[in-house]
Amino acid sequence: MIDADVPEFVAGLGLPGLTDLHVHFLPDTVQAKVWEFFDRASVEYGTEWPIHYRLPAAERLAVLRDLGVVTFAPLVYPHKPGMAAWLNEWVREFAAATPEAVPTATFFPEPGAGEYLAEALSAGARCVKSHVQVGAYDPRDPLLDTVWGQLAEARVPVVIHCGHGPVPGKFTGLDVFEDVLRRHPRLIAVLAHAGAPEFDLALDLVDRHPGVHLDTTMVGVPFNGADERLPADWTARLAANADRVALGTDFPSIPYEYATQLRAIAGWAAADDRLGDAFLRAVLWDTPRRLLGLDSA
Ligand SMILES: [Zn+2]
Repeated sequence: MIDADVPEFVAGLGLPGLTDLHVHFLPDTVQAKVWEFFDRASVEYGTEWPIHYRLPAAERLAVLRDLGVVTFAPLVYPHKPGMAAWLNEWVREFAAATPEAVPTATFFPEPGAGEYLAEALSAGARCVKSHVQVGAYDPRDPLLDTVWGQLAEARVPVVIHCGHGPVPGKFTGLDVFEDVLRRHPRLIAVLAHAGAPEFDLALDLVDRHPGVHLDTTMVGVPFNGADERLPADWTARLAANADRVALGTDFPSIPYEYATQLRAIAGWAAADDRLGDAFLRAVLWDTPRRLLGLDSA
């Protein structure tokens, strides 16, 4: 499957399109800096990272439309204090102007985080991004207690990059984030990249905490050996948690075609009789839409 085949693949599953929980759109200046970072990936990450969709924003949106992505969460995240409130305003306007984009928000451990998050939630944010690796903050920071509490109450999911991949951060580790889950048991959390590289621990968190989900972002793709790192019982454990996995891709900053991610997911579905097309429909549509609070009466 290449990108041109995606609409037919989706239609073959009987789906009206794709819902992608993990896409990035950022203000142009920030996006340029992110791409400059990926240009240094051989130094930063120890591997080349050629961005496949390095295009102006309007063209990136056109790519998603051509693929049949009918809904996506444009995730923004700060790498330093004083940035999150501005990003929240930007993404609110972006979502208002983009029919496929749901409003999202982000935060940083800083005074005022509770206030600007409350504002974003009341303005309709349906999904929140926390990037523990890039932000280099402790998710247990007391400045975030009111943030996690509000998200748990609002039942708005947080897509959180708290795993050690692609390189460990100061406070990455699923064990660190589990402290937050214990303190806020109603929190709905989506472990970005399925907690890579600690897939076993991520699945343990799914087992232990009813609000924990996984996103598929960059999981199992033939890049940098990611397809060889999944645990041997991966598909068996997915079968036991088939409604807790949602499509995520990291579009546009991926070093391969969008279809590569779908091929990986379709490979899991084909590898286990308990998965199959029903699993694909759940991952590509039902679960991300449930998480975003769409289609409900
Ligand atoms: Zn991402």
